Amino acid sequence: MRHIAVIGSGPAGYYTAEACQKAFHDDVRVDIIDRLPVPYGLIRFGVAPDHQSIKAVSKRYEMVALSDNVRFVGNVAVGRDISIAELQSLYDAVVIATGAPRDRALDIPGAALPGVIGSAAFVGWYNGHPEFADLAPPLSHTGAVVIGHGNVALDVARILSKTPHEFEGSDIADHALRVLSASQVRRIALVGRRGPYQIAMTPKELGELGHLEHAAPYVDPDDLPPVAGDAALEAGLRKSVGHLRQFAAMTTKRPVTVEFDFFSKPVAIEGKDKVERLIVERTVLDSNQVAHGTGETYAIDCGLIVSCIGYTTPPIEGVPYDDALGRFANVDGRIAPGLYAVGWARRGPTGTIGTNRPDGYMIAETIAADIAGDSGKQGRPALDSLLAERGVEIVTFRDWQKIEAAEIARAQGESPRKKFTHIDEMIAALNR
Ligand code: NAP
Repeated sequence: MRHIAVIGSGPAGYYTAEACQKAFHDDVRVDIIDRLPVPYGLIRFGVAPDHQSIKAVSKRYEMVALSDNVRFVGNVAVGRDISIAELQSLYDAVVIATGAPRDRALDIPGAALPGVIGSAAFVGWYNGHPEFADLAPPLSHTGAVVIGHGNVALDVARILSKTPHEFEGSDIADHALRVLSASQVRRIALVGRRGPYQIAMTPKELGELGHLEHAAPYVDPDDLPPVAGDAALEAGLRKSVGHLRQFAAMTTKRPVTVEFDFFSKPVAIEGKDKVERLIVERTVLDSNQVAHGTGETYAIDCGLIVSCIGYTTPPIEGVPYDDALGRFANVDGRIAPGLYAVGWARRGPTGTIGTNRPDGYMIAETIAADIAGDSGKQGRPALDSLLAERGVEIVTFRDWQKIEAAEIARAQGESPRKKFTHIDEMIAALNR
């Protein structure tokens, strides 16, 4: 019997469990450990609440979770309740699938002013992550800035622009809907340091900006390169650039404008005791598409700046870490004997949810190659007695199903669920 501990119950964690089931058949027990009492990581807390079809992938993870040889061990924080070294002493393989839940730092003067928020916090807030439930982003100014030209920046700009009516059928956190409903934001600047050919926005997500009730995108036609160049672009990027061209031709006026600022590098944030404006420097690209400041600057007045410039994986004590890349130091997922990383914790925050599937299967194959046979390690029962000794009450998948049922029961209208946004509410729903 192989005993495998996976830390993190997001896409990378569940694909790894699924792959281990297939690789080892009945000869494996997988424990998926999560610091929260609820599973699915990025699916619950990262994917936008108005993208329910993407969140539906959790049904696939549920099938894995309900099988006999996989177990969800919620409400257990590695580093607080148990160490990596202890897990390694109990399991044949320990796989870190903790994703990349921290913001890459926006390293400019003024970034610490109130009103400057990283996307991990902002996205966590509207998705009801317990860590960010009390964020209260300031939306009383008509100007807001979103930094970055990736899909997260698009999510944030879209959520800031939608009417309450457009959130019907979503599972946006109640507290976020209340604050967004009273928003005074009318102009959202989407600031990117490079140009239309360098955006990291996928076509479906970008296209959505053109179909909002209350908001319209704005692209300055002068920012677009000659159309002849589009033919050489990779198909997805060509479609995205096609959307930008449509936006540039749009004459629709709506109360909220989402304005693309290309070739604009954030250089400072100013304000007396809270953010009042972002200073950006115009850029030009060199032949390698690297942006260089021109010295020409302008200011964007705003009361909120959301920095969507990528994520990093928080280090875990005792686990080799690559500071430059913001993830665990690893070679093809191997960190040390018996210790592995998968998903964003292995390769950094890139790709779609589905990209984590081959990642999980690769790690399962690697583990199969590394672990010869029965090592005598005890896995589950040993973990349970250690946690019981420490007074840690685990939340099982059946427990989670009770929490989920309570969230579904209190949903209103077309919303699929009304999330609990504090850990004690989740635990209270178990009626222990
Ligand atoms: P991303 O795709 O890497 O985009 C980050 C953006 O931030 C880029 O435009 C980058 O510009 C910019 N940036 C980085 N450092 C900067 C700095 N110091 N100053 C100014 N701009 C800076 O990251 P993401 O948007 O966080 O997305 C993470 C992953 O999740 C991606 O793979 C994404 O596709 C995926 N995702 C998918 C969906 C979806 O499919 N619906 C939704 C959300 C996220 P440069 O190019 O100049 O570096």
